[in-house]
Amino acid sequence: MNPNCTPSETRQAVYAYLYMLDKERAGEANSKTQIRRALQERLPLRSEFSLEKRFQNISAVLAEDGKTFVKGYLPLPNVGRGVASVIRHVVSEVESSSQLVEEALGFAVRCEFLALGKARNDKGRPRGGLPDELWTERAGRRMPARRRAETCLFSRDPKLKAWLVLRSRGLREFCGARAPFEEAPDMPYLEIHHVVSLAREGWEAPENAVALCPNCHRAMHFAADREERVRRLYSLFARLDAGAFGADGA
Ligand SMILES: [Zn+2]
Repeated sequence: MNPNCTPSETRQAVYAYLYMLDKERAGEANSKTQIRRALQERLPLRSEFSLEKRFQNISAVLAEDGKTFVKGYLPLPNVGRGVASVIRHVVSEVESSSQLVEEALGFAVRCEFLALGKARNDKGRPRGGLPDELWTERAGRRMPARRRAETCLFSRDPKLKAWLVLRSRGLREFCGARAPFEEAPDMPYLEIHHVVSLAREGWEAPENAVALCPNCHRAMHFAADREERVRRLYSLFARLDAGAFGADGA
């Protein structure tokens, strides 16, 4: 296919759309403000109307292909064949490439980061504790939420990563180094390390995840002294012991 047919604009719109779809599947409300802001960081400013229309076009293509679409965006009739084929191309690319799923997840994390940062600013001083949205009722107790990947498009929880990245700011990190770069304004690039890997059925949950700089992340997996590093992780982050979760959730 002609690369001109897959402009980054459509790609970003699809990322935004898949994020909304995932939220809807999880029974969560979508914040159009955050989605628009995250999109505007990557695209020239678009009118609300053209954005809505774009999302409705995506709904139309997904509906035609028998896929779930975002209920808030009813399929538009008569989507142009050119537009439909570009959307279909980008959707199938995302579905088939783990790299692009990662990019789409990045968009989702950015939206959650904006929402979380805003919620905290409204309440005054940011706190290190786990935000309300990441708590759940488990076995009759208030516990940190755990992600069930199979019900969601993304195997990882963008809200959890947003919280980990947000709370890392200003705090001493594992190695004391700053993140190597920002992936979006005021948002450091960090990687999520699962202490018990997801492949070993570790939870996508606060008690099993830390945000590390890329070097430390690699070292957790490959350094000769990685067992010692894991022990240090446990001693630095009380929340990694699920039983100890509480207090300020840190
Ligand atoms: Zn580090």
